[in-house]
Amino acid sequence: MTVPEHHTRIAEERADTERRIASLTGRFTAIVEGSEFTTDDDEHDPEGSTIAFERAQVSALLADARRELEDLAAAQQRLDDGTYGLCTRCGLPIADVRLDALPAAQTCIDCAG
Ligand SMILES: [Zn+2]
Repeated sequence: MTVPEHHTRIAEERADTERRIASLTGRFTAIVEGSEFTTDDDEHDPEGSTIAFERAQVSALLADARRELEDLAAAQQRLDDGTYGLCTRCGLPIADVRLDALPAAQTCIDCAG
């Protein structure tokens, strides 16, 4: 893939990730607001612990998505710097098939393993 193609691909991934963050944020808000109408007694109320579990799950997904967004921003920076596609650990080129699957990959398969 050429640099402009990588740019397009990463921009698309970023847009996807941003949409995911927006929808997860909406879900998180809905869970928090919904839980206001139930009891505060999480420990003894089975529904309360389900809400706590859901909230923890959504917040973990949100953390993942935010990390992904940071990785994609870093990948865009490397594209601009001309170091994109080079392993940040050993400096060798990262295989195209790996970049294709993981456009924000910073290390080659050997260093990642
Ligand atoms: Zn490497």
